[in-house]
Amino acid sequence: MDHPTNPGPGAIDVSRRRWLRGLSAATLAAGGGVAVAPKARAQTTKTKAHIVIAGSGLGGIAVANRLSRMLDGARITIVDAKQEHNYQPGYTLVATGIWPVEKVRDRNADYLPAGVEWVQEMVAEFDPEANAVVTTGGKRIAYDYLVVATGLHLDYAQIEGMDVAAIGTHGLGSVYASPQSALATWRAMDAFRQQGGHAVMTLPAGPLKCAGAPLKMTFLVADRLRQAGTLGKSHVDFFTGLPTDTVFGVKVVNDNVIERWDAMGVERHHLNKLVAVDIGARQATFATPEGERTEVGYDFLHVVPPMRATDAVKKSALAWKEGPMAPGGWLEVDKVTLRHQRYPNVFGVGDINGTPRGKTAATVKKSAPIVAHNLVEVIAGREPDDKFDGYTSCPLIVREGSAMLIEFDYDGKLTPSLPMIEPLQESYMAWLMKYRMLKPAYVAVLKGRV
Ligand SMILES: Cc1cc2nc3c(=O)[nH]c(=O)nc-3n(C[C@H](O)[C@H](O)[C@H](O)COP(=O)(O)OP(=O)(O)OC[C@H]3O[C@@H](n4cnc5c(N)ncnc54)[C@H](O)[C@@H]3O)c2cc1C
Repeated sequence: MDHPTNPGPGAIDVSRRRWLRGLSAATLAAGGGVAVAPKARAQTTKTKAHIVIAGSGLGGIAVANRLSRMLDGARITIVDAKQEHNYQPGYTLVATGIWPVEKVRDRNADYLPAGVEWVQEMVAEFDPEANAVVTTGGKRIAYDYLVVATGLHLDYAQIEGMDVAAIGTHGLGSVYASPQSALATWRAMDAFRQQGGHAVMTLPAGPLKCAGAPLKMTFLVADRLRQAGTLGKSHVDFFTGLPTDTVFGVKVVNDNVIERWDAMGVERHHLNKLVAVDIGARQATFATPEGERTEVGYDFLHVVPPMRATDAVKKSALAWKEGPMAPGGWLEVDKVTLRHQRYPNVFGVGDINGTPRGKTAATVKKSAPIVAHNLVEVIAGREPDDKFDGYTSCPLIVREGSAMLIEFDYDGKLTPSLPMIEPLQESYMAWLMKYRMLKPAYVAVLKGRV
């Protein structure tokens, strides 16, 4: 794997390093494209309550670390079979040959607070009427309070013929599935860029984690072709299930991206969702809402799967039963307090939440302290009083060495947190945030420090 123009540590002189340290501090304070740090809450609350946290990803561990400091005497149990902790925001860097895969691999055990019980199984069933979860191994665990942090399900099965194990072969890429699939995507992209040809990039309609990732992959495949000198004999097509002239949910960002793609010659095909792929024949099939199907041959295909709630949540009483979030089975939380609307001893954090926006690590940065605080308020017999504004952030890479840092709230209003970064202007500084500073910020969130 090559890393052609990485500004490695050696490339940064002392004064720049000092300036970077300042920025890094600002990043953590402001959040790394992340918002204001929570109010300091020094006092602990005494309780004998048993809190179960389902999921030990970013949200689950961040809340566990906070609760273990905020509560005195509580029993905290975290349920998740996964041992490896993955820094998912780094997948796009791995999938485009910028980072080695080791940078997105860690161990959950290194971040879990002391004294927390870790049940290394999955939750198979949520039974909120009985205040219990049942694990895949058949353990029934009763709780006083529950935090749901299971992340989401990548629904590759909705794409006929798709095989995650084949990513990296036959020009097939998909950044989302795992570190291995991100690395294999780079293998496919690297082989493709040597010759150039037809790249087909995809984006389904519906809630996605890091909805900017499919856009970054599109910018970066074009950049990799340009670097290899094969862009001129290549064509980049972008197929999406979204309506005409829509590629992103925030209008100003959407229009900015479309303007750039039009200038680059990226051709958009809207209301066309990926429904099937013939991996061996390198043929993708797209369908319109009316059922009209188009078969498209490709040299490189980037698959973005539809996303929905994890099975255990989707089939449970905790899921939305009506409204736009019901088909995906997302967790029915109040979008401001992040407390369940029907089960007051249940909270949600992270991608599983059925809220209008907010499926990013930056969202967890801002919302995990709110969930922890509001849960402690409820334990203490008070009403939850911390409010979440839907903060979501995405460093949108436009080429290697340049990005735009986009931050916004539930209303789609831009909420820039770093004065030196203009949201809709690409900059080296926004790139540095993504390339160097967001992982330390992420680890600080995991440890419940910011
Ligand atoms: C390609 C890609 C690029 C991204 N880029 C960015 C970015 O640039 N900026 C940004 O801020 N965010 C980005 N993100 C999004 C970010 O990584 C997620 O929003 C964040 O990890 C969500 O945290 P979470 O705790 O909700 O879920 P996760 O971190 O996914 O953790 C969920 C955990 O729940 C566990 N689990 C699942 N089902 C069960 C069950 N039934 N019982 C128990 N445990 C269960 C899983 O094993 C997992 O450990 C990106 C994500 C991807 C994939």
